[in-house]
Amino acid sequence: MKSTVKKLLQIEKPSRYAPFEINLPEKDFSEDGANILLSYPDSYEVGMSNLGLRILFDIANRIEDVFCDRIFAPFPDMESLYRGKNEDFVSVQAKRPLRDFDLIGFSFQYELLYTNFLNILDLADIPLRAGDRKEDDPIIIGGGPAMFNPCPVEPFLDLVFIGEAEESFKDINEIILKSKRESRDRDEIIKRLIEVPGVYSPALRKKDEKVKAVIVDDLNEISGIKNWVVSGQSIVHDRVVLELMRGCPNGCRFCQAGYIDRPLRVRSLENCKKTSEYLLDNTGYEEISLTSLSTGDYPHIRELCEHINEKYYKKRVSISLPSLRINSDTIELLDEVLKVRKSGLTFACEAGSQSTRDAINKKVFRDDLLDKIREVFKKGWKTVKLYFMTGLPFEDENELDEVISLIEDCAFLARKIGGRRARIIASFSTFIPKPFTPFQWSSMMDLPQIKERTKKLLGNIKNRTVSIKWHDAETSALEGYMARAGNEMADVIECAFKAGARFDGWTDHFDFKKWEQAFARSGVEKEKYIKRIDVNQKLPWDFIEIGVKKEFLIKELEKAENRESTKSCDTSKCRVCGACK
Ligand code: SF4
Repeated sequence: MKSTVKKLLQIEKPSRYAPFEINLPEKDFSEDGANILLSYPDSYEVGMSNLGLRILFDIANRIEDVFCDRIFAPFPDMESLYRGKNEDFVSVQAKRPLRDFDLIGFSFQYELLYTNFLNILDLADIPLRAGDRKEDDPIIIGGGPAMFNPCPVEPFLDLVFIGEAEESFKDINEIILKSKRESRDRDEIIKRLIEVPGVYSPALRKKDEKVKAVIVDDLNEISGIKNWVVSGQSIVHDRVVLELMRGCPNGCRFCQAGYIDRPLRVRSLENCKKTSEYLLDNTGYEEISLTSLSTGDYPHIRELCEHINEKYYKKRVSISLPSLRINSDTIELLDEVLKVRKSGLTFACEAGSQSTRDAINKKVFRDDLLDKIREVFKKGWKTVKLYFMTGLPFEDENELDEVISLIEDCAFLARKIGGRRARIIASFSTFIPKPFTPFQWSSMMDLPQIKERTKKLLGNIKNRTVSIKWHDAETSALEGYMARAGNEMADVIECAFKAGARFDGWTDHFDFKKWEQAFARSGVEKEKYIKRIDVNQKLPWDFIEIGVKKEFLIKELEKAENRESTKSCDTSKCRVCGACK
């Protein structure tokens, strides 16, 4: 204990590693029960803001004789203390060495978490490669959106889970508990676990064996989080979160979540009301976030907001609505129902020209957008954020000029109506082709092109009402190399990790040179991953079945080329993509 305190005094934000938390389950590590560890391989502040991790943590701890703990990625200062003193790397709550757990589940939200994942294994003295693990090593399983192409990290994982984990994770915990009581060996437990829907073993999967992604049919069937852990230190999303829907009806062709989360499922108003009350009453939070991929499309959004407002008016609970598609209804909702502080509103334009927006199936129209901008500044908002993605497939040849002209027009209206304090923030990210989207076969800009594009944007937008933000070119490029890679990428990841790559999603920690050297040493050519792929070519993730048919994605790609739009989902009668039963 003394050494832990001494150690924590030497590092930045020690509460990351010894957080004060309330609402923790009254359970502890037990030799007789199953001990499960969940990891979000990023900082504590980011990991504790992940709803998926909270849901699984709650599910596991509700099972009798199962104890679930957490671990996050240590920053370099903490890592060097562990390595320098040769001390055990321990879990957040029980402070147990990671090797003592029966199973460790890693949640991979995106590809830039892979070196942190290897670092956690290494600090815990667990062999990096699944094939090198022995009887006493914990079973390592990976899940999360990045596992829709698990190939780059398959060699490090004993098991992979594909899909939405609520139901399967309960089964996994119960199998671990039962197998432990029956003194089953590690291989036997792995064989039992691959019977759970969505779970497979990279080492045991037969060549043409398919893996079906798991989808929760009815959101009302999965109970809400019972113990919402409240952290004493601030985290990225410091509020309770209520998930209104899964899936998105809009079908933007670049968006992976829009395809892997199909079909659209809606939580009932009654369920949302009850869950919001439970969360607010049991945490003391004064803010609730109503989330989904497109919150404005939740059919009962107004009634739900009115209910929360009415019930918690005296407690001054505020409601935040991220991922809100701005239209007249949502402006009215924000203005009249929520009476939000008029600081900032976000419009996801994605592209500057109508032709490019048609190609990506983004139903945003210039005149309509300008009307909305006029409306929000008239109503008193001071800042509008415009999101753009550059390097999209089938981009209009004048795309850059169109983006600049759209921003200039918005800035003109902002200044004219909102006055000198009005601001437009234009935020740019780079298109990355992701598996299971119609653009999974498309090319991506290479690094010099991304840099050139950013330079042009910065050089050409001179309006003082506009601030520009852009995503780091090198992290985008790396994400692009990883997104569609096969097993060979594991060598590159391991090499980069051994060279010291950590926190690759953080620009202040990311070191692209380490990655360039890792590609060179592993003999893997990185540029091949961002080239266009022929639609007849076999893809590394073809063995995964998500419900949406490949033919549908090909058709969507053709429609993109012809600038044809696809209607939003109507789950009551449409059966076109394969996701609805
Ligand atoms: S079948 Fe139709 S409604 Fe269902 S997810 Fe696919 S496109 Fe959407």
